[in-house]
Amino acid sequence: MWSDLQPVGRSAQSGGYRRFAWTREDHDLREWFAAECAARGLDLTEDRMGNQWAWWGDPDAAASRGAKGVVTGSHLDSVPDGGAFDGPLGVVSALAAVDSLRSNGFEPAKPIGVVNFVDEEGARFGVACAGSRVITGAMTARRARSLTDADGTTMAEALKRAGRDPHQIGRDDDALRRVGSFVELHVEQGRGLVDLDHPVAVGSDIWPHGRWRLDFVGEANHAGTTRLEDRHDAMLGYAAAVLAAREAAITHGCVATIGKVAVTPGGVNAIPSAVTGWLDARGASPRAVRRAVSDITAMVEQSGGKITQESWTPSTPFDASLSARLGTRLGGIPVLGTGAGHDAGILANAGIPTAMLFVRNPTGVSHSPEEFAETSDCLEGVAALTAVLEDLAGDPA
Ligand SMILES: [Zn+2]
Repeated sequence: MWSDLQPVGRSAQSGGYRRFAWTREDHDLREWFAAECAARGLDLTEDRMGNQWAWWGDPDAAASRGAKGVVTGSHLDSVPDGGAFDGPLGVVSALAAVDSLRSNGFEPAKPIGVVNFVDEEGARFGVACAGSRVITGAMTARRARSLTDADGTTMAEALKRAGRDPHQIGRDDDALRRVGSFVELHVEQGRGLVDLDHPVAVGSDIWPHGRWRLDFVGEANHAGTTRLEDRHDAMLGYAAAVLAAREAAITHGCVATIGKVAVTPGGVNAIPSAVTGWLDARGASPRAVRRAVSDITAMVEQSGGKITQESWTPSTPFDASLSARLGTRLGGIPVLGTGAGHDAGILANAGIPTAMLFVRNPTGVSHSPEEFAETSDCLEGVAALTAVLEDLAGDPA
């Protein structure tokens, strides 16, 4: 499976992947997933957003007798020049776990589902986890349809080009009703397991995170003829805010990033009349993040700028009893939180008991062609997922 996926959407220059929702590459990955499911005799269905669900056992028959399905899987799309593991590791491990359950002669008491979520990274239309957000109602179909990519193509147009009816997309309670629990396996996107010297961890929660816009106003003027004392340079306040963000993150024990900036007029020989930057701040503790942002706010205001909160997402805890059950079944493995978002977080917020497994990443690098996991650790991940599915789907209760 891994070597099948290797060439799909791989950039010759960077060696990274460009697998964006509703493109040719995405189509090929979906066809690959459908073929792998067909080869295993799994029943493939699609929900209203086009997420692919493959079932071993009949989830509707099971639901009618009060037993919901045990679902695992992840996504196959990527960020621009992403790595091979973020997403595909969870899908491939899910199929491999089904294979090993079958070779062990396991008979599930509850149906097992393998899911491929569409558009998890939001690389094309800007909203992460679009597939799970739409079916849970966390994003309306109207908003999803109107999202636009860098070429000005709306999601509605992209869906049409992919042979789909954009008016069919929307919340899908029938698809969600089949899911009793969801366990997503994912490559770790940090160095937690390296430090703990362990191949696999159970996830505890997704950190709280927010985004803020920082606006600084100055006065455009000539870069050569304007005396320093006569300048109103918007860049200076912005630069102070960038340094304050770093300092505040260190002080309060969280992370803060200003990775996007727009400068007006944007000329090498013009003093900036306006600078807008975007701050992303996250951390294990919401208080720490709030305190860091309050320090940054003080510096922004002192520099004559304005700061506006654009979003705030509280901490998303995974289901405590499900996570504890995984931990027990896997013999007390480490428990880690994460600063990265996942479809598992969206399903958890929709009230579905959800857990995650992380597989060690020796460098911690992710969203980069350098992202990596050792084969032996990936196989440990498959073994852990197999044990978890056996436990959850083997239990008729
Ligand atoms: Zn991912």
